[in-house]
Amino acid sequence: MRRVTTIVETRAALAELRRGGRTVGLVPTMGALHDGHLSLVRASRDRCDVTVVSVFVNPTQFGPGEDLDSYPRDLDADVGLLESAGADLLFAPDASEMYAEGAETRVELGPISTVLCGASRPGHFAGVATVVVKLLGITLPDFAFFGEKDYQQLKVIERVVRDLDMPVRVMGCPIVRDEDGLALSSRNRYLSAGERVSARVLSRALRRLRERIARGEVDVSGLTRALADEVSGEPGVRLEYAAIVDAETLAPLVRLTSPGRALVAARVGQTRLIDNVAVGPVPAEADTAVAPLS
Ligand code: AMP
Repeated sequence: MRRVTTIVETRAALAELRRGGRTVGLVPTMGALHDGHLSLVRASRDRCDVTVVSVFVNPTQFGPGEDLDSYPRDLDADVGLLESAGADLLFAPDASEMYAEGAETRVELGPISTVLCGASRPGHFAGVATVVVKLLGITLPDFAFFGEKDYQQLKVIERVVRDLDMPVRVMGCPIVRDEDGLALSSRNRYLSAGERVSARVLSRALRRLRERIARGEVDVSGLTRALADEVSGEPGVRLEYAAIVDAETLAPLVRLTSPGRALVAARVGQTRLIDNVAVGPVPAEADTAVAPLS
């Protein structure tokens, strides 16, 4: 795997790698890689001839008082994992490479970015969308791979690509979980042993929610209350939101008679965790949210 840190080197390396019409897959990450990230690398390898991974802790998507400075960074370990997963190119720029002095342009998003995580993290998705648009412009991939773990982010990026006519296919990949159900996240390393046990409540509550729905409940306010009660009933866990929304627009639902998504965000100690599952009728394509936990 080749490692580059500048935009010029990335473009040159990819011009070489895509010779002969080879397809390129991009996997954007913030590093501190785990099996969730590596599942995206594998998906890209399955689909594309060349896989480029970016590792960049993007300052513009962190708000004041958030964990930008303490966000886990371990580039040496990341390199080893990416080598063994078979990535072809690693782009690991620093902030001054990505944001030249005087850069002031930001992607402006619609209401999809102000609900759920966007309500408590103002500007977060504009920061995400801006860096992703830049990464797409730098790497010009045929496909870009994102995890359903960050479901709102995936839907925001799909919308940006559609609304701005960007020539890339956005691929959503299922959430990779630990054996006990906890969705893998770089932030899980902040959790103490006790918090790690409490954190299971997120996936457990979402699983119970799906059981209720399977028994025929469709009233979204009752279902949402049950989800919220279960998460906030766990000692040491502070619920930020629990919601059941339209799977595409993230708009509120009243009855669960169309494809939906149930999402939760909570603080476990100081650590903010998120999780989500597909709920309601399965859309035309396969329901990947219930893919085997691995
Ligand atoms: P991050 O490094 O947290 O910005 O994540 C980079 C990409 O990996 C995003 O598209 C995430 O949705 C995805 N990702 C993170 N955790 C998981 C997981 N447990 N399962 C699947 N994808 C994930």
